[in-house]
Amino acid sequence: AKSQGANRYLFFNDSMNKLAVKRLQVENLIRHGLKENYFSVYYQPKMDIISGTLVGMEALVRFITPKGGLISPASFIPVAEETGQIIEIGEVVLRQACRDVKTWLDQNLFHGRVAVNLSSRQFSLPFLCEQIDDILQQTELPSYHLELEITEGTVMQSPPQAIETMKKLRARGIHLAMDDFGTGYSSLAYLKQFPLNTLKIDKAFIDDMNTARGRNMVDTIVTIAHNLSLTVVAEGVEQAEQLDMLRKLRCEVIQGYYYSKPLSATDFADFLRLQKIQ
Ligand code: C2E
Ligand code: CA
Ligand code: CA
Ligand code: CA
Repeated sequence: AKSQGANRYLFFNDSMNKLAVKRLQVENLIRHGLKENYFSVYYQPKMDIISGTLVGMEALVRFITPKGGLISPASFIPVAEETGQIIEIGEVVLRQACRDVKTWLDQNLFHGRVAVNLSSRQFSLPFLCEQIDDILQQTELPSYHLELEITEGTVMQSPPQAIETMKKLRARGIHLAMDDFGTGYSSLAYLKQFPLNTLKIDKAFIDDMNTARGRNMVDTIVTIAHNLSLTVVAEGVEQAEQLDMLRKLRCEVIQGYYYSKPLSATDFADFLRLQKIQ
């Protein structure tokens, strides 16, 4: 029994080591990527569920390897959150998104808002508002073209402080969306106190809409959002049936592969041009 215990300990230690090594590799890759500008911003359209026209887009970070490969954020965002590198990545993404949208505004291709994800680390930066002000000023993008997506986890860390930060952002004309709603812990009592504009239903709930239970769940979320006068965005919509159900439930905006995957800035500009023709 003793030797088995020792083995188990060894095994555990070994897998822990592998994890630590992997983490260190990702950390180094991110550092290298930041230095060499390997981070790029992709855009996924958000469409009006009734008219099928573009209302905005979400900026999603990508790591482009020197050979042109794409590394998904799921594999590096968690490490970047841990190491704090997400702060620098977030700044790069925000600046690039503002720059791109300013270009599309000037070309008369787009007049809506770009939604940028804000990590917990970024949200709790004491100089967050100043940093955003600087970026908006440098890129000459009016603040009302910006929306920030924040998760429940982020705002529930310290709700009173979060409300204060959110009010400061709203005072600038920036819109706020609660992202991945329903996947974390959030209290309804607080939800109504957060100065939000939009509520995004996580893909997991949309995936579940093929069951009556799942549809009821989405119905409930939409009702809560509307009672709080929030616009509802459904993410991860892939099928026409999901779209039909969401339309019946009075969800306003959809984002998902049904319309488009996230696109590079060049491809997104083409998407904008096509929209204009229609
Ligand atoms: P998220 O904020 O929930 O973003 C939506 C994710 O769902 C994106 O994954 C998007 O590509 C994916 N998605 C959208 N529609 C569909 C669909 O119809 N089918 C499927 N299978 N997937 C769909 P992505 O780009 O891989 O990003 C994953 C997560 O990484 C994001 O989830 C977000 O939490 C984080 N992330 C991405 N970019 C940034 C960023 O710039 N900053 C921060 N802090 N986090 C980011
Ligand atoms: Ca998001
Ligand atoms: Ca989301
Ligand atoms: Ca999600």
